[in-house]
Amino acid sequence: MRQNIFQDIKDRVDLKDLVRYYGLDVDRGGFACCPLHNERNSSFKVYEDHCHCFGCGAHGDHTDFIEKLYGVSNIEAAKKISHNFGVWLIVTELATPVNSYLKEMNDIYRWLKNMG
Ligand SMILES: [Zn+2]
Repeated sequence: MRQNIFQDIKDRVDLKDLVRYYGLDVDRGGFACCPLHNERNSSFKVYEDHCHCFGCGAHGDHTDFIEKLYGVSNIEAAKKISHNFGVWLIVTELATPVNSYLKEMNDIYRWLKNMG
């Protein structure tokens, strides 16, 4: 199966960098205060490829995190990360989409081109 944008993001963006970029203060143990529920303790743990909150049970990877944080769709979350982290290499993938992501990929391609 071909690599898709979600996998591209996971491969190219460090999850700790990602959550830090969006405002989380991750400590050396990988813990941060959960942005998805109100808390004073750090029960939001950031792993290599996913994060998990021991307080509210939130769980997911890069795009899941943005999806929950901003209340957007999975594809909107992917666009946001692509934009903020310059995951431009995906454009070559988007030029010849062959799978069920066809429409979404074209949307992203147009969106990236419009970014100028
Ligand atoms: Zn939480």
